[in-house]
Amino acid sequence: MRFSGFRVLREALTGHGGWRPLWRNCEPQPSYDFVIVGGGGHGLATAYHLAAVFGQSRIAVLEKGWLGSGNIGRNTTIIRSNYLLPGNEPFYEFSMKLWENLEQELNFNAMVSQRGIVNLIHTDGQRDAYRRRGNAMLHAGADAQLLSRDQVRDLAPFLNFDNARFPIKGGLMQRRAGTARHDGVAWGYARAADLLGVDLIQNCEVTGFRIENGKVAGVDTTRGHIGAKKVGVAVAGSSGRVMAMAGMRLPIESHVLQAFVSEGLKPVIPGVITFGAGHFYVSQSDKGGLIFGGDIDGYNSYAQRGNLPVIEDVAEGGMALMPMIGRARLLRAWGGIMDMSMDGSPIIDRTPIEGLYLNAGWCYGGFKATPASGYAFAQLMATGNPHEAAAAYRLDRFTRGYVIDEKGAGATPNLH
Ligand SMILES: Cc1cc2nc3c(=O)[nH]c(=O)nc-3n(C[C@H](O)[C@H](O)[C@H](O)COP(=O)(O)OP(=O)(O)OC[C@H]3O[C@@H](n4cnc5c(N)ncnc54)[C@H](O)[C@@H]3O)c2cc1C
Repeated sequence: MRFSGFRVLREALTGHGGWRPLWRNCEPQPSYDFVIVGGGGHGLATAYHLAAVFGQSRIAVLEKGWLGSGNIGRNTTIIRSNYLLPGNEPFYEFSMKLWENLEQELNFNAMVSQRGIVNLIHTDGQRDAYRRRGNAMLHAGADAQLLSRDQVRDLAPFLNFDNARFPIKGGLMQRRAGTARHDGVAWGYARAADLLGVDLIQNCEVTGFRIENGKVAGVDTTRGHIGAKKVGVAVAGSSGRVMAMAGMRLPIESHVLQAFVSEGLKPVIPGVITFGAGHFYVSQSDKGGLIFGGDIDGYNSYAQRGNLPVIEDVAEGGMALMPMIGRARLLRAWGGIMDMSMDGSPIIDRTPIEGLYLNAGWCYGGFKATPASGYAFAQLMATGNPHEAAAAYRLDRFTRGYVIDEKGAGATPNLH
């Protein structure tokens, strides 16, 4: 079933009896060529690209809960490619280009909305740093524009310009950045993968790996053993726990990150705005809610819920930046488990166990990476060759000293 304006019209005139579930509810087969552990954005995008781009078949995605129950359905929906380092910027720009064609490719409305992002500048040193980052973006083929204070004011007059503790001196703008509907991305990839014959198996938790003579032979699950020639693990915040079952210890810590949504308001936020003097970022959904967030909670946890001190901290950031937010009522808050790597950058690599591949370490920036991560992980699993834009995301970079430390924070996962 293809989605189109014509289809919507036809269903409207015929009582909406023709809509079908977006994917089949599959029973696990005894074995597959490719098993992807984790039905989040990255796992589903990997399965889709394995089938759609690399012509593979006999693929299953195993998800312990329901598709999209993890971070893919919990994030603040920001997509952008405004990175500095050569290991990162080309990868995120590759992802941005895939976002731009995603809905046509998947025939699914993922509400990709390129409304722009502005990183606010509050000091002269910050302006220098953002100018440098903007130049790095332009070198990688992305778009970037340095805004003056007046240009920011024209764009977002409600920000605290006149009585601010942290005066706004300008901003770094990426106009092609924006937001996408987070769980819609999971549904779009799931539907497209299902149409290509991928088995999507929910309520199927992987509880162990079968490894024979240093080679993966399959996985044990709550729904029995499933054989596999190749296994790709994309479980985000559960990476440490899952890879421990294969006897591996990762350079990753799990932390909680919270997100917040206000009651619906008339359109006010033009795109995504990030505070440069604290950790606070905000956008507005199509339903009108202000969506915002800040720092991780700051201690290791596998709980998908956060704590009050960070809520206070985020609220303070919001009030310092745009005092009018104090008049909006908070509707909902939730948490997700972040796989924080030692240098703040991800891992897309094979492991020392033959046939076992790892996609992890996305910290709190993995939503925007979903299309490129799925493409690159699928390429690695299908061909054995890393995608050139993801070639730096090696697991052994921590032992070789080739870290990709975007923030320059050192080996401190809680600060990336
Ligand atoms: C509050 C919040 C805000 C964020 N904001 C942004 C943002 O604005 N922009 C951005 O780019 N990124 C953001 N992120 C980060 C982004 O959401 C994640 O980096 C990304 O979604 C992780 O990849 P995923 O989608 O595959 O993860 P997930 O959706 O978490 O998928 C992993 C899946 O693995 C499953 N799983 C775990 N263990 C097993 C097992 N043993 N067997 C089978 N399945 C298993 C889980 O149930 C889960 O569904 C945010 C995250 C949070 C929590």
